[in-house]
Amino acid sequence: MRRLYQARDRIEAQFLHDLLDQHRISAAILGDYLSGAAGELPLDIYPTVWVTDDDDLPRAQALLARFLERTKMQVGSSWVCPNCGEPVEPGFDLCWNCGRERE
Ligand SMILES: [Zn+2]
Repeated sequence: MRRLYQARDRIEAQFLHDLLDQHRISAAILGDYLSGAAGELPLDIYPTVWVTDDDDLPRAQALLARFLERTKMQVGSSWVCPNCGEPVEPGFDLCWNCGRERE
């Protein structure tokens, strides 16, 4: 298992995880549950995205680069999924939670 990326927050980590999943790359998010578990822990524990299979790392890094590029180009405001009600960041046309397309 190889560390791919340290996310800003749980939502970003989840987006990246879902993107990898769509490309059949097995990944895991570590660390986010720690920050929610105990108030004494330092605040600089961010969720990290790990690639399960080392052989997938080059592909995962390529996807990460695209992912970050897309995040940078975000315009407008976030939207709320009409299906499940989850907030979705601008720049994404699919709900991270249920996969529904933006209307
Ligand atoms: Zn949804």
